Amino acid sequence: MSKVHNFSAGPCILPKEVLEEASQSVLNFNNLDLSILEISHRSKDIIDVVSEAESLVKELLNVPDGYKVVFLQGGASLGFLMTAYNYMKLDGEAAYINTGTWSTKAIEAARGFGEVKVIGSSEDRNFTYIPKGLGVPMSANYLHYTSNNTIFGTQFHKVPVVRCPLICDMSSDIFSREIDVHLYDLIYAGAQKNMGPAGSTVYIVKESGLGKTKRDIPVMLDLQTHIKNESMYNTPPVYSIYVSLLTMRWIKKQGGVAEMGRRNEAKAHLLYHEIDHNPLFYGTVEDLDRSSMNATFKLHDESLSEEFNKMCADARIDGIKGHRSVGGYRASMYNALPIESVQALVDVMKEFAAKKG
Ligand SMILES: *Cc1c(COP(=O)(O)O)cnc(C)c1O
Repeated sequence: MSKVHNFSAGPCILPKEVLEEASQSVLNFNNLDLSILEISHRSKDIIDVVSEAESLVKELLNVPDGYKVVFLQGGASLGFLMTAYNYMKLDGEAAYINTGTWSTKAIEAARGFGEVKVIGSSEDRNFTYIPKGLGVPMSANYLHYTSNNTIFGTQFHKVPVVRCPLICDMSSDIFSREIDVHLYDLIYAGAQKNMGPAGSTVYIVKESGLGKTKRDIPVMLDLQTHIKNESMYNTPPVYSIYVSLLTMRWIKKQGGVAEMGRRNEAKAHLLYHEIDHNPLFYGTVEDLDRSSMNATFKLHDESLSEEFNKMCADARIDGIKGHRSVGGYRASMYNALPIESVQALVDVMKEFAAKKG
């Protein structure tokens, strides 16, 4: 039986060796003759898991001194709210860039906390590009943006230049390329796109940026609570953190985030080259703003889709159906997706064009 090529947008593909080790830990974790699912989160073995996960985030992303890493629940969607609670001052204002569904939700979550200024948006053309040359008001408490737009297939290839704190939802491209953490006050990312299973969200927080809002923050939503308690204020999502840890060990073994970046560029180049040269398909977003994680494309003649879908299914290509707000196809090429899978998709596209040509 040939292997499934898993292009799922999220939750998504994880390295096979990570899944194997993760499943072993459910039966017998660290040779304790106990499952990782049935021991206390205060036990030494689990405290070690959480602290190694935090240190590996720091090591892989070159996190400078003065930053803390915590793993929380609630997904990136709670991150939208945490952002507003922890960084928008009472009667303050915050700037947002709207590049799609997730940014829109982040903006909605912040409304009511203060003045929300959308300083750039690509909504006019269904989020097919990244707005550029934006002026961020000096008075903004922060600028929030989404580095990779999972649904629409665009990605920031440059970090916005600001003179206020910068906050980024990196859910779908964290660990996919090198980043400069020192530019940010807060980076957050749900695990299930490029890090591990759903259930945990990593927050990389500049400590000196906290405690400035003069707002009453509910204890569970206060980043300082979780920093003080090293991700253990309440029971953390132990298993999700553990599998994320295994993924980070895998990334390190492969050569780190720089190597991930090289592989992801090679994969993206391979697929976009085919999209651009195949007469049956076209890419849906502006070339310069294309995402190396999620490639969105369509058939010129949508009546051919059933036939193409069948060929993909026969080649065991899975998860490329586009999001309903874009249509067409979306191939997600996260870290664990081998280039062979991208080649398999490209081969089917070529074969289809030859058949129709
Ligand atoms: C998936 C996704 C989210 C939502 O994550 P949840 O964990 O479901 O809350 C937010 N932002 C981006 C960029 C995403 O890809």
